[in-house]
Parts: sequence; C-alpha cells; structure tokens
Amino acid sequence: MNDSVLAKEIYDKAVSCGFDNCGIIPIDDMDRFEEYFQERKKAVPSSAFFYEAVGDLAGIKRRFPWAKSAIVCSFWLGRYQFPASLQGRYAKGFFLSPGNETRRDFPDGREQFETWLAQRGVRCEGGGQFGHLSIGPLRHAAVAAGIGIIRKNNFLYTEKGSFIELTGYVIDRECELRHTPNLKPCAEQCNLCQKSCPSGALKGPYTMSPLECVSFLTTFGKGALPPGMDDKASATWICGCDACQDACPYNRRHDWSVGEAYPGLEELESELQPKKLLRQSDEFLRKNVVPYTSCHVTPDETETLRVCAERSVRNQSAS
Ligand code: SF4
Ligand code: SF4
Repeated sequence: MNDSVLAKEIYDKAVSCGFDNCGIIPIDDMDRFEEYFQERKKAVPSSAFFYEAVGDLAGIKRRFPWAKSAIVCSFWLGRYQFPASLQGRYAKGFFLSPGNETRRDFPDGREQFETWLAQRGVRCEGGGQFGHLSIGPLRHAAVAAGIGIIRKNNFLYTEKGSFIELTGYVIDRECELRHTPNLKPCAEQCNLCQKSCPSGALKGPYTMSPLECVSFLTTFGKGALPPGMDDKASATWICGCDACQDACPYNRRHDWSVGEAYPGLEELESELQPKKLLRQSDEFLRKNVVPYTSCHVTPDETETLRVCAERSVRNQSAS
C-alpha cells in the first residue's frame, strides 16, 4: 500500500537537505528501461560496450530484490557561478558537481538525508551516480517521477534547464510521489544541439554515439580519438563537453556569472588555463584538478588532462 505520509516526509526532508526536487516511483516502473537499453543498443550498436562498462543499468530489481520504490532527487548546478574562461573547456556538470570531494557541505546534506531515512526505519541503498552506489538509469527514473523531460540532446531538463545532478535511492517501502513538469517539448524543427556537436556524436534526435562523444573521449577514453576522427573534433574541450547543452535555447537564459561561488574554483581558475595546465605536475593535478572531475578522471590518469589540454591549445590556435 502506498504510504503517502512517508512519501511527503521524504520529499520535505530531501528539500530541507539541499535538493531542488524529489520524486518517488514504484520499483516496477524501472522495468521498461531494459527495453529502452535494447532499443538504444540497436539504434547505435557501438554503444553496447559503453552501456555495459557503466554498470548494470537495467538490473535494479536483480541487484535490490528487496526494494519496493525508487527515490530520485535533483540538484540544480546553476546555483553556482562558472568562470567564463573555463567555458568551452571544462564541463560544468563535473566541475560544479555537489558530489565532488571539494564541496563538503552538500555531501553532508546527502548524508543527513540518508541518516534520516535510516532513523525513520527505512532501508535504503544508492546515493551515487556511478559504480555500486548508483541504483541505475537516473534520468529515466526522473522522467517517470515527473521531475523533468528528456530533450533531443538526451539530457534531462527540469524547469531550470539541463545542468542538473541526480541522486537516486531504492527503499523497502511502497511509496509514490510524482510531479507534472511544466515543460514544452523540443520544437520539431530545432536541431541546434546537433549542429553544435563538435565530434558529430549527436547523430539525430535522442541518438548519440557515446564512444564518439567528447565527454567520453576526454575522460574515460583517456584523450584518445577513435581512428579516423579529426583532431579538431574535440574543439577546445579538456574535460567533458557542454556544447549540446550550451547551444540549447532552454539553457541560454541562465547567466553563469551570477550565483554562489563554487568552493575553490575561482582560486584555481588561472591554473586551469590550457597552456598552464600542460605544465602542471602530476602531484598538482592529482591534488587540485582530479577532485573537480566528478570521478571522470582518476588520480592515475593525469596524463589524460595533459593530452586534452594540448589538443585544446592546438585547436584554439587553429580557430
Ligand atoms: S556532449 Fe559534446 S560531443 Fe557529446 S553529444 Fe553533446 S555536443 Fe556532442
Ligand atoms: S537545442 Fe533544440 S532540439 Fe536540442 S535539446 Fe535544445 S530545444 Fe531540443
């Protein structure tokens, strides 16, 4: 039976812990994602490797047989400023992530939320975007909970745009709390995201080739481009890529020069400039830059940052 009192309490607690929104769906709603991943793999066969590498995305019920509901919470990254000189080089989704160890206050909020669930007697697992802490396909859980919609560039959008970080949990209670997002779909004729994609990874509406995406190439792909891909395909990006989100009219209204300062980022800005980054020691990169990459670059992958910074400098001078 749906415990509507608990559902409301969970929502209120999530918001008081710093999330912008929170929805709860029955665990059975996650079943259709298996079908979705099969469709994706059929549309872009090269993506199969990628989906397998990022984890058991569709296996939520196999991994958590006791779970009855999934909670998905959103956090809007636009509450922070993002220095103009880092735009076009570093992905905002990584460098402004509340999960970065450089930002201690939000993880405390997340911990508070998890502690409260435990105190309330609710069994809960999850809380991360990747690895064993991720419960699965969070964007799709967010759509099912009515937190937002997926646009043609494959990103989840809430009323505030696509620069959102999601956190998901499974719980052992039957709860449901859905929202109705007040969002128009993409205009039929709009293809600004596709046109802005530097590598051509965005093949069409809702169709992206993960292994050609600059976000993958500059992180998990260790800076190597696939055979035949032009050196300029990664433009000036060093870590991640926001091109298809920045080009979107539903993000353009936001001014990244306003908002709270993200801890330590302003002080680091000059050190992150591509020519300077190239000369940084491994120790410096490990200590000061890797912690901002939201687990997309590991401490032993500092060379990835240099490879991408070198290409960024080349592509900047060629433009
Ligand atoms: S993140 Fe960059 S490379 Fe990937 S699909 Fe979007 S624009 Fe293309
Ligand atoms: S750029 Fe246009 S097509 Fe692409 S996601 Fe935004 S509104 Fe949709």
